Amino acid sequence: MTKFYVTTAIDYVNAAPHIGHAYQKIVADVLARWHKLKGDEVFFVTGTDEHGKKVQRAAKAAGKPTQKFVDETVIKFKEAWKSLNILPDRFIRTTDEDHKKVVKKFIEKCDKAGKIYLGEYEGYYCTDCEAYYTEKDAPDFICPIHKKKLEKLKEKSYFFKLSEYKEFLLDLYKKHPEFILPKSRRNEVISRVKDGLQDLSISRTSFDWGIPFPLDKKHVTYVWFDALINYYTATRKKGKEKFWPADVHLLGKDNSWFHCVYWPAMLKSVGIKLPKTVFVHGFLKFNGQKISKSLGNVISPKTLVEKYSADAVRYFCLRHFPFGEDGDFDEKALVARHNNELANKLGNLVSRVSGLIEKDVLKKVGVDIHISNVVRNISELIDQFKFDKALNEIFAFIDTLNQFVQDKKLWENKDEKDIYELVSGIRVVTVLLWPFIPETSEKIAKRFGFKISLEELKKPLKTTKIKKGEILFKKI
Ligand SMILES: [Zn+2]
Repeated sequence: MTKFYVTTAIDYVNAAPHIGHAYQKIVADVLARWHKLKGDEVFFVTGTDEHGKKVQRAAKAAGKPTQKFVDETVIKFKEAWKSLNILPDRFIRTTDEDHKKVVKKFIEKCDKAGKIYLGEYEGYYCTDCEAYYTEKDAPDFICPIHKKKLEKLKEKSYFFKLSEYKEFLLDLYKKHPEFILPKSRRNEVISRVKDGLQDLSISRTSFDWGIPFPLDKKHVTYVWFDALINYYTATRKKGKEKFWPADVHLLGKDNSWFHCVYWPAMLKSVGIKLPKTVFVHGFLKFNGQKISKSLGNVISPKTLVEKYSADAVRYFCLRHFPFGEDGDFDEKALVARHNNELANKLGNLVSRVSGLIEKDVLKKVGVDIHISNVVRNISELIDQFKFDKALNEIFAFIDTLNQFVQDKKLWENKDEKDIYELVSGIRVVTVLLWPFIPETSEKIAKRFGFKISLEELKKPLKTTKIKKGEILFKKI
Protein backbone atom coordinates (compact mmCIF):
# COMPACT_ATOMS: atom_id res chain seq x y z
CA MET A 1 0.00 0.00 0.00
CA THR A 2 1.25 3.47 -0.87
CA LYS A 3 1.37 6.00 1.94
CA PHE A 4 0.71 9.70 1.57
CA TYR A 5 1.59 12.29 4.20
CA VAL A 6 0.47 15.89 3.69
CA THR A 7 0.99 18.81 6.08
CA THR A 8 0.02 22.47 6.16
CA ALA A 9 1.65 25.41 7.84
CA ILE A 10 0.72 25.55 11.50
CA ASP A 11 -0.96 28.86 12.18
CA TYR A 12 -0.03 31.45 14.75
CA VAL A 13 -2.71 31.71 17.39
CA ASN A 14 -2.34 35.42 18.03
CA ALA A 15 -5.50 36.03 15.98
CA ALA A 16 -8.51 34.12 14.63
CA PRO A 17 -8.41 32.29 11.28
CA HIS A 18 -9.48 33.89 7.99
CA ILE A 19 -9.96 32.70 4.42
CA GLY A 20 -6.23 33.08 3.71
CA HIS A 21 -5.50 30.40 6.32
CA ALA A 22 -8.39 28.29 5.09
CA TYR A 23 -7.28 28.19 1.47
CA GLN A 24 -4.21 26.07 2.15
CA LYS A 25 -6.09 23.73 4.48
CA ILE A 26 -8.74 23.17 1.81
CA VAL A 27 -6.01 22.17 -0.63
CA ALA A 28 -4.49 19.77 1.90
CA ASP A 29 -7.91 18.24 2.51
CA VAL A 30 -8.47 17.80 -1.24
CA LEU A 31 -5.11 16.05 -1.58
CA ALA A 32 -5.83 13.83 1.43
CA ARG A 33 -9.25 12.86 0.07
CA TRP A 34 -7.85 12.29 -3.41
CA HIS A 35 -5.23 9.88 -2.09
CA LYS A 36 -7.87 8.12 0.00
CA LEU A 37 -9.88 7.66 -3.20
CA LYS A 38 -6.82 6.14 -4.83
CA GLY A 39 -6.62 3.67 -1.98
CA ASP A 40 -3.49 5.13 -0.38
CA GLU A 41 -2.92 5.16 3.34
CA VAL A 42 -3.21 8.84 4.18
CA PHE A 43 -2.01 11.02 7.04
CA PHE A 44 -3.08 14.67 7.02
CA VAL A 45 -1.73 16.97 9.71
CA THR A 46 -2.50 20.58 10.43
CA GLY A 47 -2.31 22.57 13.63
CA THR A 48 -1.22 25.65 15.49
CA ASP A 49 2.02 27.37 16.39
CA GLU A 50 1.49 28.61 19.92
CA HIS A 51 4.80 29.82 21.30
CA GLY A 52 6.66 33.08 21.05
CA LYS A 53 6.62 36.66 22.13
CA LYS A 54 3.86 37.63 19.75
CA VAL A 55 1.41 35.13 21.26
CA GLN A 56 2.42 36.11 24.79
CA ARG A 57 1.74 39.76 23.92
CA ALA A 58 -1.62 39.01 22.32
CA ALA A 59 -2.67 37.10 25.44
CA LYS A 60 -1.61 39.98 27.64
CA ALA A 61 -3.54 42.45 25.49
CA ALA A 62 -6.60 40.22 25.85
CA GLY A 63 -6.07 40.13 29.63
CA LYS A 64 -5.77 36.35 29.76
CA PRO A 65 -3.19 33.85 30.94
CA THR A 66 -1.26 32.71 27.86
CA GLN A 67 -2.30 29.06 28.07
CA LYS A 68 -5.97 29.99 28.42
CA PHE A 69 -5.66 32.42 25.52
CA VAL A 70 -4.16 29.82 23.18
CA ASP A 71 -6.66 27.15 24.25
CA GLU A 72 -9.50 29.47 23.32
CA THR A 73 -8.02 30.57 20.00
CA VAL A 74 -7.32 27.00 18.96
CA ILE A 75 -11.03 26.23 19.20
CA LYS A 76 -11.71 28.90 16.57
CA PHE A 77 -9.28 27.21 14.19
CA LYS A 78 -10.73 23.77 14.78
CA GLU A 79 -14.28 25.02 14.27
CA ALA A 80 -13.33 26.86 11.10
CA TRP A 81 -11.81 23.73 9.56
CA LYS A 82 -14.76 21.62 10.61
CA SER A 83 -17.22 24.04 9.01
CA LEU A 84 -15.36 23.60 5.72
CA ASN A 85 -15.32 19.79 6.02
CA ILE A 86 -11.56 19.84 6.41
CA LEU A 87 -10.78 16.64 8.28
CA PRO A 88 -7.18 16.35 9.47
CA ASP A 89 -6.03 13.08 11.01
CA ARG A 90 -4.20 15.06 13.63
CA PHE A 91 -4.49 18.64 14.78
CA ILE A 92 -1.08 19.24 16.31
CA ARG A 93 -0.34 22.03 18.77
CA THR A 94 3.22 23.06 19.55
CA THR A 95 2.19 23.06 23.22
CA ASP A 96 1.41 19.31 22.99
CA GLU A 97 3.52 17.24 25.37
CA ASP A 98 4.76 14.78 22.74
CA HIS A 99 5.96 17.68 20.61
CA LYS A 100 7.97 19.16 23.47
CA LYS A 101 9.72 15.81 23.93
CA VAL A 102 10.56 15.44 20.25
CA VAL A 103 11.94 19.00 20.11
CA LYS A 104 14.13 18.32 23.13
CA LYS A 105 15.57 15.16 21.60
CA PHE A 106 16.05 16.81 18.23
CA ILE A 107 18.10 19.65 19.74
CA GLU A 108 20.17 17.28 21.88
CA LYS A 109 20.97 15.18 18.83
CA CYS A 110 21.86 18.24 16.77
CA ASP A 111 24.16 19.40 19.59
CA LYS A 112 25.84 15.97 19.77
CA ALA A 113 26.52 16.26 16.05
CA GLY A 114 28.42 19.47 16.85
CA LYS A 115 26.05 21.77 15.01
CA ILE A 116 25.05 24.08 17.89
CA TYR A 117 27.13 26.74 19.69
CA LEU A 118 26.53 29.64 22.08
CA GLY A 119 26.96 33.13 20.68
CA GLU A 120 25.48 36.55 20.84
CA TYR A 121 22.84 37.86 18.58
CA GLU A 122 22.47 41.46 17.65
CA GLY A 123 20.08 42.65 15.05
CA TYR A 124 17.02 44.54 13.95
CA TYR A 125 13.95 42.75 15.05
CA CYS A 126 10.24 42.86 14.19
CA THR A 127 8.11 41.43 16.99
CA ASP A 128 5.19 40.82 14.66
CA CYS A 129 7.30 38.74 12.28
CA GLU A 130 9.34 37.32 15.15
CA ALA A 131 12.31 37.79 12.91
CA TYR A 132 15.45 39.80 12.59
CA TYR A 133 16.00 41.76 9.42
CA THR A 134 19.24 42.53 7.69
CA GLU A 135 19.93 45.94 6.23
CA LYS A 136 19.44 44.49 2.79
CA ASP A 137 15.87 43.37 3.50
CA ALA A 138 14.90 46.40 5.58
CA PRO A 139 17.07 49.32 4.45
CA ASP A 140 15.38 51.96 6.65
CA PHE A 141 15.04 49.59 9.61
CA ILE A 142 11.31 49.44 8.92
CA CYS A 143 9.66 46.02 8.74
CA PRO A 144 8.85 45.42 5.06
CA ILE A 145 5.66 43.58 6.04
CA HIS A 146 4.37 45.52 9.03
CA LYS A 147 5.83 48.92 8.16
CA LYS A 148 6.85 49.34 11.80
CA LYS A 149 10.20 50.51 13.10
CA LEU A 150 12.46 47.58 13.91
CA GLU A 151 13.88 47.23 17.42
CA LYS A 152 17.61 46.80 17.87
CA LEU A 153 18.10 43.72 20.02
CA LYS A 154 21.14 42.04 21.46
CA GLU A 155 21.01 38.84 23.43
CA LYS A 156 22.86 35.64 24.17
CA SER A 157 21.64 32.93 21.87
CA TYR A 158 22.42 29.43 20.72
CA PHE A 159 23.11 29.09 17.04
CA PHE A 160 22.65 26.33 14.50
CA LYS A 161 25.52 26.11 12.00
CA LEU A 162 23.33 26.72 8.97
CA SER A 163 26.23 28.28 7.06
CA GLU A 164 27.77 24.81 6.68
CA TYR A 165 24.84 23.61 4.56
CA LYS A 166 25.12 25.82 1.50
CA GLU A 167 26.64 23.16 -0.78
CA PHE A 168 24.39 20.45 0.61
CA LEU A 169 21.29 22.52 -0.16
CA LEU A 170 22.34 23.57 -3.65
CA ASP A 171 23.08 19.93 -4.39
CA LEU A 172 19.66 18.91 -3.04
CA TYR A 173 17.81 21.42 -5.27
CA LYS A 174 19.80 20.22 -8.27
CA LYS A 175 19.33 16.51 -7.71
CA HIS A 176 15.72 16.80 -6.56
CA PRO A 177 14.05 19.61 -8.45
CA GLU A 178 10.74 18.37 -7.08
CA PHE A 179 11.90 19.36 -3.58
CA ILE A 180 10.69 22.94 -4.16
CA LEU A 181 7.59 23.50 -6.27
CA PRO A 182 6.60 25.46 -8.29
CA LYS A 183 9.76 26.09 -10.27
CA SER A 184 9.61 29.89 -9.94
CA ARG A 185 9.87 29.60 -6.14
CA ARG A 186 12.76 27.16 -6.48
CA ASN A 187 14.75 29.64 -8.54
CA GLU A 188 14.20 32.37 -5.93
CA VAL A 189 15.51 30.11 -3.16
CA ILE A 190 18.52 28.93 -5.18
CA SER A 191 19.69 32.43 -5.95
CA ARG A 192 19.40 33.47 -2.30
CA VAL A 193 21.25 30.39 -1.05
CA LYS A 194 24.03 31.06 -3.55
CA ASP A 195 24.53 34.43 -1.82
CA GLY A 196 25.54 32.50 1.30
CA LEU A 197 23.90 31.48 4.56
CA GLN A 198 24.26 32.82 8.07
CA ASP A 199 24.08 30.69 11.17
CA LEU A 200 20.64 30.54 12.67
CA SER A 201 19.79 31.82 16.11
CA ILE A 202 17.65 29.15 17.77
CA SER A 203 17.14 30.27 21.38
CA ARG A 204 15.96 33.34 23.23
CA THR A 205 16.18 34.77 26.71
CA SER A 206 13.95 37.81 26.13
CA PHE A 207 10.68 35.92 26.68
CA ASP A 208 9.71 32.66 28.33
CA TRP A 209 6.61 31.42 26.46
CA GLY A 210 8.27 28.54 24.67
CA ILE A 211 9.77 25.08 24.96
CA PRO A 212 12.65 25.16 27.47
CA PHE A 213 15.93 24.97 25.57
CA PRO A 214 17.36 21.59 26.62
CA LEU A 215 21.00 22.74 26.65
CA ASP A 216 20.49 25.78 28.89
CA LYS A 217 17.75 26.52 31.40
CA LYS A 218 17.95 30.27 30.89
CA HIS A 219 16.84 29.94 27.25
CA VAL A 220 13.67 28.98 25.46
CA THR A 221 13.67 27.39 22.04
CA TYR A 222 13.22 29.96 19.35
CA VAL A 223 10.62 29.52 16.67
CA TRP A 224 12.15 27.28 13.95
CA PHE A 225 13.52 24.50 16.14
CA ASP A 226 10.07 24.41 17.68
CA ALA A 227 7.56 25.00 14.86
CA LEU A 228 9.16 23.12 11.97
CA ILE A 229 9.68 19.96 13.97
CA ASN A 230 5.89 19.52 14.36
CA TYR A 231 5.75 17.67 11.03
CA TYR A 232 8.13 15.08 12.37
CA THR A 233 6.53 14.90 15.83
CA ALA A 234 3.23 13.81 14.31
CA THR A 235 4.91 10.71 12.90
CA ARG A 236 6.51 9.65 16.19
CA LYS A 237 3.26 8.20 17.51
CA LYS A 238 2.95 4.45 17.41
CA GLY A 239 1.73 3.27 14.00
CA LYS A 240 2.48 6.61 12.33
CA GLU A 241 6.25 6.15 11.89
CA LYS A 242 5.84 4.87 8.33
CA PHE A 243 4.47 8.24 7.20
CA TRP A 244 7.83 10.00 7.53
CA PRO A 245 9.20 11.51 5.30
CA ALA A 246 6.33 13.83 4.38
CA ASP A 247 5.18 13.66 0.77
CA VAL A 248 4.25 17.31 0.65
CA HIS A 249 4.46 20.32 2.95
CA LEU A 250 2.03 23.02 1.78
CA LEU A 251 3.11 26.57 2.60
CA GLY A 252 2.46 30.20 1.88
CA LYS A 253 5.24 32.13 0.20
CA ASP A 254 6.14 33.90 3.46
CA ASN A 255 7.23 30.50 4.78
CA SER A 256 9.22 29.42 1.77
CA TRP A 257 12.72 30.23 3.03
CA PHE A 258 12.30 28.48 6.37
CA HIS A 259 10.99 25.27 4.84
CA CYS A 260 13.24 25.16 1.80
CA VAL A 261 16.45 26.09 3.63
CA TYR A 262 16.32 25.73 7.44
CA TRP A 263 14.20 22.59 7.53
CA PRO A 264 16.27 20.33 5.20
CA ALA A 265 19.49 21.52 6.88
CA MET A 266 18.04 20.78 10.33
CA LEU A 267 16.95 17.30 9.27
CA LYS A 268 20.31 16.60 7.64
CA SER A 269 22.13 17.59 10.83
CA VAL A 270 20.39 14.83 12.80
CA GLY A 271 20.29 12.28 9.98
CA ILE A 272 16.54 12.26 9.36
CA LYS A 273 15.20 11.73 5.83
CA LEU A 274 14.05 14.81 3.96
CA PRO A 275 10.47 15.49 2.84
CA LYS A 276 9.78 14.91 -0.86
CA THR A 277 8.20 18.22 -1.76
CA VAL A 278 7.72 21.67 -0.32
CA PHE A 279 4.94 23.32 -2.30
CA VAL A 280 4.89 27.11 -1.98
CA HIS A 281 1.72 28.98 -2.85
CA GLY A 282 0.70 32.61 -3.12
CA PHE A 283 -1.60 34.72 -0.95
CA LEU A 284 -5.31 35.40 -1.22
CA LYS A 285 -6.82 38.82 -1.28
CA PHE A 286 -10.41 39.41 -0.23
CA ASN A 287 -12.55 41.31 -2.76
CA GLY A 288 -9.41 42.82 -4.25
CA GLN A 289 -7.89 43.97 -0.96
CA LYS A 290 -5.13 42.60 1.18
CA ILE A 291 -6.62 40.71 4.14
CA SER A 292 -5.73 42.71 7.23
CA LYS A 293 -7.12 43.70 10.56
CA SER A 294 -6.73 47.39 9.83
CA LEU A 295 -8.87 47.08 6.68
CA GLY A 296 -11.50 45.27 8.72
CA ASN A 297 -11.88 42.47 6.17
CA VAL A 298 -10.76 39.53 8.28
CA ILE A 299 -13.87 37.43 7.63
CA SER A 300 -14.03 34.14 9.45
CA PRO A 301 -14.30 31.04 7.25
CA LYS A 302 -17.38 30.04 9.25
CA THR A 303 -19.19 33.22 8.21
CA LEU A 304 -18.41 32.51 4.56
CA VAL A 305 -19.64 28.94 4.94
CA GLU A 306 -22.91 30.16 6.45
CA LYS A 307 -23.31 32.60 3.59
CA TYR A 308 -22.35 30.36 0.66
CA SER A 309 -21.95 26.72 1.91
CA ALA A 310 -18.74 24.81 2.50
CA ASP A 311 -18.75 23.32 -0.98
CA ALA A 312 -19.18 26.67 -2.72
CA VAL A 313 -16.19 28.10 -0.79
CA ARG A 314 -14.06 25.01 -1.43
CA TYR A 315 -15.00 24.90 -5.09
CA PHE A 316 -14.29 28.57 -5.63
CA CYS A 317 -10.88 28.50 -3.93
CA LEU A 318 -9.73 25.64 -6.13
CA ARG A 319 -11.39 26.63 -9.37
CA HIS A 320 -10.85 30.36 -9.58
CA PHE A 321 -7.05 30.67 -9.47
CA PRO A 322 -4.13 28.35 -10.20
CA PHE A 323 -2.70 26.92 -7.00
CA GLY A 324 0.72 28.44 -6.45
CA GLU A 325 -0.05 31.95 -7.60
CA ASP A 326 -1.72 34.80 -5.74
CA GLY A 327 -5.50 34.89 -5.94
CA ASP A 328 -8.47 37.02 -5.05
CA PHE A 329 -11.39 35.71 -3.02
CA ASP A 330 -13.82 37.82 -4.98
CA GLU A 331 -17.34 37.26 -3.69
CA LYS A 332 -18.99 38.40 -6.93
CA ALA A 333 -16.98 35.85 -8.87
CA LEU A 334 -17.87 33.23 -6.28
CA VAL A 335 -21.57 33.90 -6.74
CA ALA A 336 -21.20 33.76 -10.52
CA ARG A 337 -19.39 30.42 -10.39
CA HIS A 338 -21.85 29.06 -7.86
CA ASN A 339 -24.82 29.94 -10.05
CA ASN A 340 -23.35 29.16 -13.47
CA GLU A 341 -21.29 26.11 -12.72
CA LEU A 342 -22.50 24.40 -9.56
CA ALA A 343 -26.20 25.18 -9.89
CA ASN A 344 -26.74 25.42 -13.66
CA LYS A 345 -24.37 22.72 -14.82
CA LEU A 346 -23.99 20.15 -12.05
CA GLY A 347 -27.23 20.78 -10.17
CA ASN A 348 -29.27 20.78 -13.35
CA LEU A 349 -27.74 17.62 -14.71
CA VAL A 350 -28.45 15.73 -11.53
CA SER A 351 -32.03 16.93 -11.20
CA ARG A 352 -32.85 16.34 -14.87
CA VAL A 353 -31.52 12.83 -14.89
CA SER A 354 -32.97 11.82 -11.57
CA GLY A 355 -36.29 13.27 -12.76
CA LEU A 356 -36.18 11.03 -15.82
CA ILE A 357 -35.89 7.78 -13.96
CA GLU A 358 -37.21 8.49 -10.51
CA LYS A 359 -40.02 6.01 -10.80
CA ASP A 360 -38.29 3.33 -12.84
CA VAL A 361 -35.55 0.97 -11.98
CA LEU A 362 -32.61 1.40 -14.27
CA LYS A 363 -31.64 -1.86 -15.94
CA LYS A 364 -28.16 -2.85 -16.86
CA VAL A 365 -27.94 -2.71 -20.62
CA GLY A 366 -24.30 -3.45 -21.07
CA VAL A 367 -22.92 -0.15 -22.32
CA ASP A 368 -20.39 1.81 -20.34
CA ILE A 369 -19.24 5.26 -21.13
CA HIS A 370 -15.52 5.57 -21.87
CA ILE A 371 -14.36 7.01 -18.64
CA SER A 372 -10.78 5.88 -18.23
CA ASN A 373 -9.41 8.89 -20.12
CA VAL A 374 -11.29 11.35 -17.96
CA VAL A 375 -10.09 9.68 -14.78
CA ARG A 376 -6.50 9.53 -15.99
CA ASN A 377 -6.48 13.20 -16.99
CA ILE A 378 -7.90 14.35 -13.69
CA SER A 379 -5.50 12.14 -11.78
CA GLU A 380 -2.48 13.63 -13.54
CA LEU A 381 -3.68 17.18 -13.01
CA ILE A 382 -4.28 16.70 -9.28
CA ASP A 383 -0.89 15.05 -8.84
CA GLN A 384 0.62 18.17 -10.44
CA PHE A 385 -1.36 20.45 -8.07
CA LYS A 386 -3.35 21.83 -11.04
CA PHE A 387 -6.69 21.83 -9.24
CA ASP A 388 -8.25 24.58 -11.37
CA LYS A 389 -7.53 22.60 -14.52
CA ALA A 390 -8.82 19.38 -12.98
CA LEU A 391 -12.11 21.06 -12.11
CA ASN A 392 -12.24 22.59 -15.55
CA GLU A 393 -11.95 19.10 -17.07
CA ILE A 394 -14.62 17.68 -14.79
CA PHE A 395 -16.98 20.50 -15.72
CA ALA A 396 -16.22 20.05 -19.42
CA PHE A 397 -17.35 16.47 -18.93
CA ILE A 398 -20.51 17.70 -17.19
CA ASP A 399 -21.14 19.91 -20.25
CA THR A 400 -20.83 16.84 -22.45
CA LEU A 401 -23.38 15.00 -20.34
CA ASN A 402 -25.81 17.93 -20.41
CA GLN A 403 -25.38 18.14 -24.17
CA PHE A 404 -26.07 14.43 -24.40
CA VAL A 405 -29.43 14.86 -22.66
CA GLN A 406 -30.22 17.68 -25.05
CA ASP A 407 -29.11 15.93 -28.25
CA LYS A 408 -30.87 12.69 -27.50
CA LYS A 409 -34.02 14.41 -26.23
CA LEU A 410 -34.03 11.94 -23.39
CA TRP A 411 -37.11 13.41 -21.75
CA GLU A 412 -39.05 12.25 -24.84
CA ASN A 413 -37.54 8.97 -25.91
CA LYS A 414 -36.27 7.70 -22.52
CA ASP A 415 -33.88 5.32 -24.25
CA GLU A 416 -32.60 2.92 -21.60
CA LYS A 417 -29.17 2.56 -23.14
CA ASP A 418 -28.68 6.30 -23.26
CA ILE A 419 -29.91 6.81 -19.74
CA TYR A 420 -27.61 4.07 -18.51
CA GLU A 421 -24.67 5.76 -20.18
CA LEU A 422 -25.65 9.07 -18.69
CA VAL A 423 -25.94 7.72 -15.16
CA SER A 424 -22.52 6.10 -15.56
CA GLY A 425 -21.21 9.53 -16.48
CA ILE A 426 -22.78 11.11 -13.42
CA ARG A 427 -21.16 8.42 -11.31
CA VAL A 428 -17.74 9.42 -12.66
CA VAL A 429 -18.41 13.08 -11.92
CA THR A 430 -19.63 12.27 -8.41
CA VAL A 431 -16.51 10.31 -7.53
CA LEU A 432 -14.08 12.79 -9.06
CA LEU A 433 -15.72 15.74 -7.36
CA TRP A 434 -15.69 14.18 -3.91
CA PRO A 435 -12.28 15.55 -2.86
CA PHE A 436 -13.39 19.05 -3.88
CA ILE A 437 -17.04 19.22 -2.82
CA PRO A 438 -17.59 16.24 -0.53
CA GLU A 439 -20.99 17.26 0.83
CA THR A 440 -22.60 17.57 -2.60
CA SER A 441 -20.86 14.51 -3.92
CA GLU A 442 -22.17 12.43 -1.01
CA LYS A 443 -25.70 13.71 -1.61
CA ILE A 444 -25.59 12.69 -5.27
CA ALA A 445 -24.10 9.31 -4.39
CA LYS A 446 -26.91 8.68 -1.95
CA ARG A 447 -29.56 9.64 -4.46
CA PHE A 448 -28.24 7.32 -7.18
CA GLY A 449 -26.93 4.59 -4.91
CA PHE A 450 -23.27 5.05 -5.99
CA LYS A 451 -20.26 4.13 -3.95
CA ILE A 452 -17.62 6.85 -3.79
CA SER A 453 -14.64 4.86 -4.97
CA LEU A 454 -12.31 4.98 -7.96
CA GLU A 455 -12.14 1.19 -7.91
CA GLU A 456 -15.92 1.01 -8.28
CA LEU A 457 -15.75 3.07 -11.49
CA LYS A 458 -14.08 0.16 -13.23
CA LYS A 459 -17.14 -1.99 -12.59
CA PRO A 460 -20.35 -1.70 -14.55
CA LEU A 461 -23.11 0.25 -12.93
CA LYS A 462 -25.45 -1.89 -10.91
CA THR A 463 -29.19 -1.75 -11.29
CA THR A 464 -30.18 1.24 -9.34
CA LYS A 465 -33.27 2.98 -8.09
CA ILE A 466 -33.06 6.72 -7.97
CA LYS A 467 -34.46 8.60 -5.04
CA LYS A 468 -36.03 11.98 -5.31
CA GLY A 469 -33.88 14.63 -3.69
CA GLU A 470 -33.78 18.30 -2.90
CA ILE A 471 -32.19 20.88 -5.18
CA LEU A 472 -28.39 20.65 -4.78
CA PHE A 473 -27.59 24.33 -5.19
CA LYS A 474 -30.13 27.09 -4.65
CA LYS A 475 -29.15 30.08 -6.74
CA ILE A 476 -27.72 33.00 -4.82
ZN1 LIG B 1 7.13 42.55 10.70
